[in-house]
Order: sequence, then C-alpha cells, then structure tokens
Amino acid sequence: MYTVTDPATGVLVEEVPNSTEAEVQTAIGRVHAAYPAWRARTVGERAAIVDRAADLFEERADELAAIMTREMGKRVNEGLGEVGIVVDIFRYYAEHGPTLLADEALDVKGGQAVITKGPLGPLLGIMPWNFPCYQVARFVAPNLVLGNTILLKHASICPHSAQAIEDILHDAGVPEDVYVNTFASSRQIPGILADDRIVGVSLTGSEQAGISVAAEAGKNLKKTVLELGGSDPLIILDTADMDETVNATATARMRNCGQSCNAPKRIIVLADLYDEYVDRLSKRVAEYYVPGDPADPDTRLPPLASIAAADEVAAQVAKAVEQGATLKAGGRRIGPGAYLEATVLTDVRPGTDAYYEEIFGPVAIVFRATDEDDAIRIANDTPFGLGASVWGTDPARLRRVADRIDAGMVYVNRAGGSQADLPFGGIKRSGIGRELGPAGIEEFMNHKSIRL
Ligand code: NDP
Repeated sequence: MYTVTDPATGVLVEEVPNSTEAEVQTAIGRVHAAYPAWRARTVGERAAIVDRAADLFEERADELAAIMTREMGKRVNEGLGEVGIVVDIFRYYAEHGPTLLADEALDVKGGQAVITKGPLGPLLGIMPWNFPCYQVARFVAPNLVLGNTILLKHASICPHSAQAIEDILHDAGVPEDVYVNTFASSRQIPGILADDRIVGVSLTGSEQAGISVAAEAGKNLKKTVLELGGSDPLIILDTADMDETVNATATARMRNCGQSCNAPKRIIVLADLYDEYVDRLSKRVAEYYVPGDPADPDTRLPPLASIAAADEVAAQVAKAVEQGATLKAGGRRIGPGAYLEATVLTDVRPGTDAYYEEIFGPVAIVFRATDEDDAIRIANDTPFGLGASVWGTDPARLRRVADRIDAGMVYVNRAGGSQADLPFGGIKRSGIGRELGPAGIEEFMNHKSIRL
C-alpha cells in the first residue's frame, strides 16, 4: 500500500493501492514496446522534450513543493529550492546531451574506429522519499535524452510526487509508454528484475535496499547504479570567522531535516578550535532550529519524513548516549508529529554504533582531532565514502587534505551540495556509479565500438 501520512501531525491522510501483478506486467510491456521508436528519434528531438519538461517543472514548482510538504514534511522553501535544481538538471541534459552523445573518432592500431553512444533499453528506477523530485530527475533526465525508456517505482510514502512527475513528463511530450510510473511494492522488484525486457536498474536509498536490488540484478546480469547512504565528514582546519563557519555547517547538517545522503554527519574539528566550535554549534542548534509547521515559510526545523523515521533517529541518539556519547543539544522526540529536536553529540567513540552508522536526521556528531593527519584518519574511518568537505583558509592545505579523503566527492569551504553539471556518487558502501554531469549519462549507455 502507498500511504500519505502527514508528518507534522502523524495523521493518515490517504491510502493508494499497490499495482497488481497484471498492472506491473502491462507497465513492463509498455516501456519495452516503446523503446525502439524512442531510441530512433534524434537526440535533438528527445532533448527538446526534456527541455520542455524543465519549463513545466518551473511552472509547477509551487504545486510540487506543496505535495512534498504534505507527503514527507519538507519545508516549503526547501521544496521550491529542490524544484530549482530539478529544472537545472533537465536543462543541463537538454543542452549538453547532443554533445555528450556525439560519436567519438578513435585512431586504433592499423586504422580507424568510431565509438557511438547509444541507449541500452528499458530501465527500472527505484527512488526514495528524501528528495522526491530531485532523485528522480538525476536518473530520468539523462536517460530520456540518451534514448532509454523508464519504469519508475517511487517511495511508498510519495504517491502524489510520483504522479505529478509522470504528469509533467507526459505533458512535456514524453510518450506515455516511454515513462511509466508504477505503484509496485518492493516485493515485486525481484520479478521485474528477472524480466528480460528490463535491462538495468538505478536505486537511491538505503544500504539494505541496495544490497537486495544489487543481488537480484546480479543474478539476472543487469547493470546497476546505486546511490546509498553516507556519513560524510566535514573537517574544520581553521577559520577566519567562527560565526560564519558555525552557521554554514549547521545549515548544511540541518538541511532537509538532516535527511540528505551527503549531509555532513560527522564534523571533525582540530583541537584548538574544538571547544569553541562545540559551544557555539550547540547554542546555534538549540536557539535557531525551532520545530514548526513545514508549510510555514518561516519554519526552521520541520518534522522528519515519517513517525518511523523520527523514532529510529531518536533511538539512535539514545543508544549513542547509552554507549557513552555526550548530548550537547536537543535529543528529544516531540509528538504527535515526526519531530526530533536538532541535536549535537560529542564523545562518540570507535566501537560504538553511532561512530559507524548513518544517522538520517537532524543530528550533528562533533569529533576532536589532534592535528591534520588525525582529522583525515577519523574522516576515513567509516564504511561509507559518499562525500566530504574541508573548511579552512589555506588553499594548498585544503587541497592536500581533499586529496587524502576516501570519498566520491569533496567540497572545499562548502558542504553537501549538488549541481547538475557535477558528477555525484560514492565509493565503499555508499554505492556504485555516478549521476549528474557528463558521467551521469554514461551509466546506462552502450559505448559501441565500430571498427572501420
Ligand atoms: P529505502 O531504501 O527502504 O527506500 C528507498 C526506495 O527503495 C523506496 O522506493 C523503497 O520502496 C525501495 N525499497 C526498499 N527496500 C527495497 C527492496 N528490498 N527491494 C527493492 N526496493 C526496495 O529507504 P527508507 O525509506 O527505509 O529509509 C531508510 C534509510 O535509507 C534512511 O534512514 C537512510 O539511511 C537511507 N536512505 C538514503 C537515501 C539516500 O539519499 N541515499 C534516501 C532515503 C533513504 P518502499 O518505499 O516501497 O519501501
């Protein structure tokens, strides 16, 4: 069942039945049948449709932001910001797609070859609730320009986001069978992946879902892209303005109520700044991040996406404290909605759960590092490898530290961003593959070598 429960109140608003097995089969048949004609169109034609989709996302931004607020509690301003990035992503692939897909001539031993860049076929996308529009856009925009067709299974708390996105794409001119939304349940995914008509899958979500989807895809020899969790480090080496550093890092951690895969979840501060930083961050978090209605533009801390998510994060905080962490701010679960006070933890030691796991909510953990080497050691002491950021004033030092961090992305004096033209993705347990930028259109591409 797909369900809408208002995260601000915990009240069940609506239930949408799952697709039946017959409906899932029909959906697979549609994206399969639509593929030959879609790939036969010129890149320019597909790019023009994707550009029109950007226009419609822009036009319907208010409507989309309101849906996200209702379904997963996103602050309305953040919803508008999210749609802004979605527009950028559709525009980026509309504009650059034709260049990115141009044939490549290659001098080879004894003659000439050409590499053509074509699609693979019908793909399955499995998407999460934390950025209901952005996560879909990262997968869909490049693959539509490339010529793949798409069956999309969205998170079961986001049925209206899923529907609104499908409506926009169809209204923009994407043929109805080229992009098909399904309300399949996760139990139906193995059957879809076993079907020969689906050639690849992209999932953004939890490690557990990633493991399960990768195992099914592997059994069926299907190409996989996985964007999973992270526990990104943010290293503060020095600062010219402590207030600015505190505010910027708090903003980065609390964005989307802390539910971003690449939020800076572990803040690592060199010893000489540590006490002052912890004091100021704790004050900032306690005073500024006041819980409120996500539909009110003045609200600073919305609820988490669901009661279950809030309970889980509160339990992680409680366990961390039980295992020796110090609670510097927040930590209280506030009902009846899915609220958790913005929280700061320190003294999280190796060997405890909070040291290694991802905390997907408004919780900052601050670590003290004795020096630069120690900061890098702590940063890399994690099963994840999504993003990281390094803050300081000396460009050479910042670059030196950035080079030594094991992650798919490092940001300098900025945290956890995402932009259409910059590849996004992780290493280690954070996933496989890249989205966005030139790399994002290559994942489900047939780089065909033609030896002339
Ligand atoms: P999930 O990974 O469970 O959900 C993401 C998507 O995967 C949803 O569409 C979900 O469907 C689907 N899914 C879940 N299990 C399977 C499966 N076995 N096979 C196929 N599809 C599956 O995320 P949660 O909503 O449970 O969030 C849990 C944790 O995941 C978070 O606390 C966070 O750590 C991480 N996460 C990371 C995200 C990221 O951006 N990297 C985004 C969201 C979550 P359905 O909704 O029907 O269960």
